[in-house]
Amino acid sequence: MDGQTPVNSGDTILNSSHPVGWELSIVSPDIKEHCGLFGIYRHPAAARLAYLGLFALQHRGEESAGIVASDGQAMTKHIGMGLVEDVFGEEELARLKGHAAIGHTRYSTTGSSLLKNAQPLQVEYSRGGIAIAHNGNLINALLLRDELEARGSIFQTTIDSEVILHLLADPQFAHFEEALTDTLPKLRGAFSLVILREDEVIGVRDPNGFRPLWIGSLGEATVLCSETCALDILGAKPVREVEPGEVVIVNRDGLRSIRPFPKATPSHCIFEHVYFARPDSAIFGDSVHQVRQRLGRRLAREHPVDADVVIPVPDSGNSAALGYSLESGIPFEFGMMRNHYVGRTFIQPRQQTREFQARVKFNPVSAALKGKRVVVVDDSIVRGTTCKTRLKSIRESGAREIHMRVSCPPIMHPCFYGIDFPTKSELIACTHSLEEIRTFLEVDSLGFISLEGLLSAVSGPRESYCTACYSGKYPLPFGPEASKYILERKFSGEAHPIKR
Ligand code: SF4
Repeated sequence: MDGQTPVNSGDTILNSSHPVGWELSIVSPDIKEHCGLFGIYRHPAAARLAYLGLFALQHRGEESAGIVASDGQAMTKHIGMGLVEDVFGEEELARLKGHAAIGHTRYSTTGSSLLKNAQPLQVEYSRGGIAIAHNGNLINALLLRDELEARGSIFQTTIDSEVILHLLADPQFAHFEEALTDTLPKLRGAFSLVILREDEVIGVRDPNGFRPLWIGSLGEATVLCSETCALDILGAKPVREVEPGEVVIVNRDGLRSIRPFPKATPSHCIFEHVYFARPDSAIFGDSVHQVRQRLGRRLAREHPVDADVVIPVPDSGNSAALGYSLESGIPFEFGMMRNHYVGRTFIQPRQQTREFQARVKFNPVSAALKGKRVVVVDDSIVRGTTCKTRLKSIRESGAREIHMRVSCPPIMHPCFYGIDFPTKSELIACTHSLEEIRTFLEVDSLGFISLEGLLSAVSGPRESYCTACYSGKYPLPFGPEASKYILERKFSGEAHPIKR
C-alpha cells in the first residue's frame, strides 16, 4: 500500500463523463489517512509557517486544508477542498494576519468530504472567537449532539468536532479554562486537538493518546504539530510530545500544562507506525523509520525464504524492506518506480481498468527483476486487489518467483478511533484464509508478521498500544453510534442508532 505521499492509488474509480473514449478517474486509497494538525503562537508570519507545516503533513489528509490566524484581536480564516498547495496561494496567505495560527489537513473520519466539514472550524460566541482542529474520532459524538440539540444548539456540519465547539461555548462558564476542563472529560474516543483563541493556542491529547501531537520551538515561537516532520520543515526544534491526557496552553505567559482527565492507560495507534506517519517523523517515543526497519527484520526471521532480491512497494514499504534485506542478507533493490506526479484525478482511456491505473502509478524495473526470485515487502494488505495488480506486473517483468511479505498482521476489524478502513466484507483477511489470499495474489509464498512481532518493534510496553484492527481488542468500548457517518445518518431518514 502506498501511503507516504498525498496521491495514492487504490481500488475505487469513480467515473465522470469526458470526451469519447476517455474518462476522468478519481483515485481513492484503500485506507484513508485521517488528519494533520498544526498550531503556532508568537511568530509574525504564523500563517505562512502553518502553510509549510501543513505541507509537511499533507500525507495525513488530502481532501481539504485550512488555516485560521489571529492578530490578538480578530481572526481570519481560509479553507478549501484539495491539497495544501491548491488551497493556498500568495493572496490567501497575505490575508491571514497575526502572530498565532492553527491549521488542518483533512481526510474525512467523521462526516463526508464536504467544504462545510473542512477544518479548522471557527465561530464567534459570547467570549469572543474560537477555532478548533481535530484529529481522531469521537465515539460518543451522537450522544453529545443529541443532548446539545435538546438544549437548542444548532449545528452547521455533520462532523463530530463541532460538538466540542458547542460544549466549549457553553455560557454557564465565566472563564474559558473552566469550559475546557468541564468539556474535555465528556469526550470519548480519539482526539488530538489544536484550539485557537484570540491570543492563545491550546493543544490537547486524549487520555489514551491514540493520535500523536508534538510541541516544538522556533526562536520565541511555540509550535504544535502531529508529527516532527512539520517541525523539520520550519527548522524548529522538537521539545517533547504532548502527553496522553495533557492540555498545553500557550499564550503571552509561556506554556502551561493542565490535566483535566482521569488517568488512563495509553493506547497509541500502532498503525501510525505501520503506515500513516512519515518515516522521517518520530511518534510515541520512537523513530518511525527505525520501527519499520525492525518490523522488516522481524519479518525476515518469522518468514525466511531463499531469494535473490528484496524489493519494497514504494514508499511506505521502503524501511521494512530494508530491514528484511539487512536481516536476511538478501540484496535490497528498487524493483518498482513510482510516478510522483500522478494527481488525485487523471484522464485515462475509457476501456482501461485499475491495472492501467496501477501501471500509471508504479512501473516495475525489469532489469532488477528478470529471472530473479523476488521478496516483495509491503506495509499492509487491505482489499488485496491493488496488491494483486502490482504483483502481476512484477511477474510480467520476468520475476521467476514472488514471495510476498507484509509488515503488519492481517487487518480483520474496523477502527472506531479515526482510521477509515473498508467494511469487513471488503477486507480480504476477513473473507479469505492465508492460503486463499496467496492463491488470489498468485504468489509463491505469503507471510504476515505476527502481532507479537509487531509489538516487539516498538519500544513502549505492549499494553500501551491499540492493536484492535488486528486483535479485535478495543481499548475503549463503543456502541452502535460510533460510525463515521453517524451524524449524517441521523438526518437521512435512517433509524436513530440509539433510539431504536
Ligand atoms: S484499531 Fe487499528 S487503526 Fe484504529 S486506532 Fe487501533 S491500531 Fe489504530
